[in-house]
Amino acid sequence: MTRRVIPKTSLDSWINHKIGVDSMTRQTLTGYQLRKLQETIDWAHERSPFYHNRFQGLADERLTCLEDLTRLPFTTAQDIQAKALQMLCVSQSEISRVVTLDSSGTTGEPKRLYFTPADQELTIDFYTQVLSAVISPGDRVFILFPGDRPGSIGDMLDIALKRLEAIPIQHGIVKNLAETVQRLADTRANLLIGIPIQALALTRFYEASGRMPPLVLQRMILTTDYVSSAIVKEIRRIWDCEVFDHYGMTEMGLGGGIECYAHQGYHLREADLYFEIIAPQTGRLLPEGQYGEVVFTTLTRRGMPLIRYRTGDLSRFIPGECLCGTILQRLEYIRSRQTGIIMLDDQYCLTMADLDEQLLTLSGVVDFTAVVSRQSAVVLLKIQIMVLAGTVNESDVRKSLGRISSIRLAEESGRLEVLVESLTCNRDFVPRVGKRTISVV
Ligand SMILES: [Zn+2]
Repeated sequence: MTRRVIPKTSLDSWINHKIGVDSMTRQTLTGYQLRKLQETIDWAHERSPFYHNRFQGLADERLTCLEDLTRLPFTTAQDIQAKALQMLCVSQSEISRVVTLDSSGTTGEPKRLYFTPADQELTIDFYTQVLSAVISPGDRVFILFPGDRPGSIGDMLDIALKRLEAIPIQHGIVKNLAETVQRLADTRANLLIGIPIQALALTRFYEASGRMPPLVLQRMILTTDYVSSAIVKEIRRIWDCEVFDHYGMTEMGLGGGIECYAHQGYHLREADLYFEIIAPQTGRLLPEGQYGEVVFTTLTRRGMPLIRYRTGDLSRFIPGECLCGTILQRLEYIRSRQTGIIMLDDQYCLTMADLDEQLLTLSGVVDFTAVVSRQSAVVLLKIQIMVLAGTVNESDVRKSLGRISSIRLAEESGRLEVLVESLTCNRDFVPRVGKRTISVV
């Protein structure tokens, strides 16, 4: 039997080109990263009042190895909320795009990220490379992100796709499942880029509706939230579509990494971003393989560089080589953020990804909410399941929840009580946008 050859993503050849070598090794890549880190530190120290103060007495010493970066303090979401303008390294007239992110935290202040045209071009260039691994000229690509504003995700994807001679089809966020599916059929889109829970709702709506027009979708790129294996399996079963998971956040300039055909973790955008994994409590750098918080430093951004930015995402570098043979580091899929780990008692914890893996496998389920409240010694977990044109059996839900060891053990200890409610959704159901989290009240 011949073994399937897994192609590398285009990131390898792209990074070769960016660092000026024919075939990079880990050593040539880290040498490039070290030079770029030093350039970024010097640039930020000289030009940004925020970094000038922050690096007082620390920036004079040159980096001799990547680990020397740990001498510098972290940058946090709170820094961006409070001091974004002081972080700028160029005048405001050179900024072409400001992204305002509502804070999900308790502080309330929005975060603002500033990009120059050159910073945006870095993202478009990255998108072009990432897409080129799964897109051919003439492909018709359906985009489920807003694209009306210059510099928005949809707009940058549009530019990248045109560079690849593919045909972008701007649709925007799903607001009506029937309309979106009809347009998918009418436009004969063969690739879709969207949000995981919206893609699941589309596939399940399509299956439940029966007489829908045939689709020609072959591949899907999902991003912005955890892509559970339940979603990947359903999309493959219903539409026979291969799903690729992309990692990114606005702070990274929207693009961070993509998985290859081996589907074993994100291959990182290491020519533009330097990643570290740290212990969330102590800030200590962790070795490969250990779980901690993802921290990154921008290597090529000029408007508002971020140095040692704490993302709040939890993951690890996967040891060993990927089947595609890349030398790029692989980051495990982000199952949770630091704030997304909910303690059911002093021993057992729960994340939205744990619930996704079990509850989204149930037939007809398009989403659910999870709310945790504490009543003296008992924790109450209320799950509301949304089912398209039907209901789920409560015992099936409980059986699925019982497969999550923290729920099972906390229930057995008498410290957790679970309430399950099923909500029937009609054809007007609008799937959610953004990161889904367990609420604590
Ligand atoms: Zn790979």
